[in-house]
Amino acid sequence: MKELDIAKFGGTSVGTYEAMESSYKVAVSNPATRVVVASACSGVTNILVELASGACNAQKIDENLGKLSDIHSQIIEKLGSPKELSDFVQSHLKEIRNLAFEANMGRSDELTDRIVSNGELMSTYIFAWMFNHFGTKAVWFDVRRVMRTDSQFGCAAPMPEVVRSLCQEQLTPLVSGDAIVVTQGFIAQNSVGQTTTLGRGGSDFSAALLGEALDATSISIWTDVPGVYTTDPRLVPHAKCIPELTYNEAAEMATFGAKILHPSTLVPAVRRGIPVYVGSSREPDKGGTWVRLKTESHPAFRAVALRKNQSLIVLSSPKMVGASGFLAKVFEVFARYKRSVDLVTTSEVSIAITLDAGTNTSGVSHAIPDDMLEELRGFCHVKVESGLSLVAIIGNKMADIPGLTSDALSAISDFPVKMICYGASSHNLCFLLNADDAPEALVKIHKHLLEK
Ligand code: ADP
Ligand code: ASP
Ligand code: MG
Repeated sequence: MKELDIAKFGGTSVGTYEAMESSYKVAVSNPATRVVVASACSGVTNILVELASGACNAQKIDENLGKLSDIHSQIIEKLGSPKELSDFVQSHLKEIRNLAFEANMGRSDELTDRIVSNGELMSTYIFAWMFNHFGTKAVWFDVRRVMRTDSQFGCAAPMPEVVRSLCQEQLTPLVSGDAIVVTQGFIAQNSVGQTTTLGRGGSDFSAALLGEALDATSISIWTDVPGVYTTDPRLVPHAKCIPELTYNEAAEMATFGAKILHPSTLVPAVRRGIPVYVGSSREPDKGGTWVRLKTESHPAFRAVALRKNQSLIVLSSPKMVGASGFLAKVFEVFARYKRSVDLVTTSEVSIAITLDAGTNTSGVSHAIPDDMLEELRGFCHVKVESGLSLVAIIGNKMADIPGLTSDALSAISDFPVKMICYGASSHNLCFLLNADDAPEALVKIHKHLLEK
């Protein structure tokens, strides 16, 4: 089979001229790279989200537009200030300005997606131009032609079958040509032509979806760290790079907060068995991580991750003693309000459930709906606690290790633990802690289990 690599570059990898140039070199150094997916230049999406909030007065709007102009101009200037690029960016800045004033009349997730999509459109247009400038033929491709989703603006769900047939029809002919296709991550379109987004950090997911749709033989995620580490190197600077991970391990890490991969990234890769490589676009020679179906080693402890913005709901009812149907009743309410339950523990008279209070692209929190709580109060006592974080230990066959729980617990004996989840998967052990305690607890667990 002919090799086909989808190379994704994150915001910092295209945030400056130097970063973009380094990413260009990484992309062309692999002859299998036929599709390049990029995020908006670093910092741009945050500015666009602020402009879409409807909370910027005219002065603030122009201040933010100035920042956007500076970020892109410093790259364009080093490319010799070609008129084509300046005109492209100027026309997008003009559109952003108009839309920001529209947001002031009434913000919406739909409008936010339209505004933020400009970030990826601008960065990729400049990036594609750079390829051609340096002598590598490239075509700029608007990914919305093929990346079809539902209409949940700010956190849209892709339709893989439709994406596949659109890709085969519109992208495959380009990919088999002589030019590299440079396209956007994160942004997409619903079936009536409105712009949607896959949620913050969604460009990794875009690359994996394109990889699946085009039958890629590898997906490369180029970022600002040389691979997936035993924990976030920002929290533990001496954390170590993991040379290879199974899909399961990497998916657990991403789900439990390892920002290096968007939590959905591995889903399309697993569906087609495509190996995923994670490396640094600035230091590609420093090595990286291969994520694949099977690995040589299966250590008991692989990594520790931190997931913020957790809420705990404790539902209790004395009537639960010996009664049946209480859990079904509770989960039916959650399902009706489309709230996906993360972790669950039960006792004789109560259930404890964690929910992720994370946000969509607009920054709007998936808060716990008051109506849902009212319904639950109709048949049980409800206690809600927010401001919590999950610390997850990811590993293999942890249930077979004697003393594991006491080992982990002794590492965090200084902190109150709100909930422990263990048993459903032999790949993880999770602790729910106060958000303020969680980073220190993570450092201690890492030291205790992964620095031996
Ligand atoms: P990009 O813009 O390239 O998508 P992100 O900021 O989304 O980059 O992800 C890279 C960041 O993920 C790193 O800078 C690091 O701080 C963070 N991170 C969290 N957990 C891990 C981990 N286990 N290994 C490596 N990086 C991690
Ligand atoms: N630009 C988007 C964000 O900042 C998507 C991404 O970077 O993956 O969230
Ligand atoms: Mg990211």
